[in-house]
Amino acid sequence: MKKIEHIGIAVKNLKDANALYQQLLGVEHYKIEEVASEHVMTSFFQVGPNKIELLEGTAPESAISKFIEKRGEGIHHLAFEVDNILAEMERLRKEGFRLLNEQPKRGADNKLVCFVHPKSAHGVLVELCQTIKADQEEE
Ligand code: ZN
Repeated sequence: MKKIEHIGIAVKNLKDANALYQQLLGVEHYKIEEVASEHVMTSFFQVGPNKIELLEGTAPESAISKFIEKRGEGIHHLAFEVDNILAEMERLRKEGFRLLNEQPKRGADNKLVCFVHPKSAHGVLVELCQTIKADQEEE
């Protein structure tokens, strides 16, 4: 893995959280993107070399809505950048980590993503993310 690509924060209301994080960080979010398949609306801030992703659930079955119901708002996941997500998934599987998806999924901000179960990482939900290059477009 390369670096922390972003930190995901679960919020109840993206509009309110955007305004607050803009004040906190001193920068405006650079995009808002819905990931309909995951029932989330996301917003991204660039802070130096790292990013903050705010996530709001758009349906009760959204993982974000369930997370907030159980644990309240707060840090939801740490995302690490990888060069080759398939190779990294294979490596982690062999090491005995539990992955939450069998195949990489399309995430926000032009990424292929895969999540590692928090039970495999001392309570931290870990996201692997690989930037989708032009020649890897699937859809
Ligand atoms: Zn993320």
